[in-house]
Amino acid sequence: MTPIDEFHEVLRDPAAYGRKLREEGRRKIVGYFCSYTPEEMIYAAGAHPMRLFGTGENIHLADAHLQSYCCSLVRGALEGALAGHLEFLDGAVFPHTCDSIQRLSDVWRMNVKGPFHLDIVMPVKLDAESAKEYMADVLKRFRKDLEDKLDAKLSDEALKDAIVRFNKIRGCLGRLYEMKNKNPGIISGSDLYAIVKASMMMDRGRVLDLLPKVIADLGKKKATAETAGRRLVLAGGICNHPDIYRIIEETGGTVVWDDLCTGSRYFEGLTEEGKDPVTALAERYISRPPCPAKHAGLFSRADHLVRIAKEKRAEGVVFFFLKFCDPHAFDYPYMKEALDGEGIPSVMVEAEDQLPSEGQLQTRFETFVQML
Ligand code: SF4
Ligand code: SF4
Repeated sequence: MTPIDEFHEVLRDPAAYGRKLREEGRRKIVGYFCSYTPEEMIYAAGAHPMRLFGTGENIHLADAHLQSYCCSLVRGALEGALAGHLEFLDGAVFPHTCDSIQRLSDVWRMNVKGPFHLDIVMPVKLDAESAKEYMADVLKRFRKDLEDKLDAKLSDEALKDAIVRFNKIRGCLGRLYEMKNKNPGIISGSDLYAIVKASMMMDRGRVLDLLPKVIADLGKKKATAETAGRRLVLAGGICNHPDIYRIIEETGGTVVWDDLCTGSRYFEGLTEEGKDPVTALAERYISRPPCPAKHAGLFSRADHLVRIAKEKRAEGVVFFFLKFCDPHAFDYPYMKEALDGEGIPSVMVEAEDQLPSEGQLQTRFETFVQML
């Protein structure tokens, strides 16, 4: 099995991977939602942070608790928990970001028996003067909550070590993105997607074994940039659809960067090492590219997207949203307007658990790519 195959293998059945980790029994397993969860703290407390993305199965148990107009990530995650597929978890962490995750937290607390439940209520307005101090206080409280729930001591030294480890992982993922951006044909979009997403779930020691190997293997490949297709940026929330990369590539495009929670929003912005670790984590959350559930200035997200598109020499942007994801849908008009203002073409696609029919998507992307 190649290193890239190993990442794909985890994504094929994350619950089976979680059960395997549990059987090995090295660390308690803490599931979490959203890239605003301080994984470093969970790791430093001796547990394994495992991001949860929902199940691709039909949803029926969750429908008794959540409206059908909640996004499929939230409904799918609850379905998996109620169906007993997440029994390997020792706990679950819910950052209060979008309304759907906040409501999921309440429903989970009342209905999912077994694993402990923790909320982390971070500030929404990140450009306020008090935001950094507020964020640091929230993180200190979370640290204490984790110590209680895991019955563990979370020392500054362990937290500093965890910060170094997660910085290395994020640095490697950024390096892979840069390699693809420079030479888009070097790795397929779905391979890169699998690497980033599985890195949020896998044993982090193993991730750090594999990423340098992938980087070294890609470094030996010949430049194929000329044949890779039209350069596109993929923007949105969570992408649960590796097929979208294949369809884009088959229709003459290639994703050279993204603004996704399952992509660059996970790894961009390293935590400063060598200073008070809680302050350093707070600063990263304040300064990293924001998602639409946070506020960091009226135009910060659009400015960021335009900057990415220009820096990465993208010819167009594909907005890819989960249906019923209000935060992203609300930001879309002004972000599109900002791209229009810079003459950067864009197209928008919405999906639930299943992608729209392949033929339909192919036609839309073909038309878009031809227009570029
Ligand atoms: S879009 Fe924001 S709230 Fe939703 S998962 Fe990503 S970081 Fe979290
Ligand atoms: S940000 Fe959107 S996709 Fe993510 S959990 Fe919230 S509603 Fe769902």
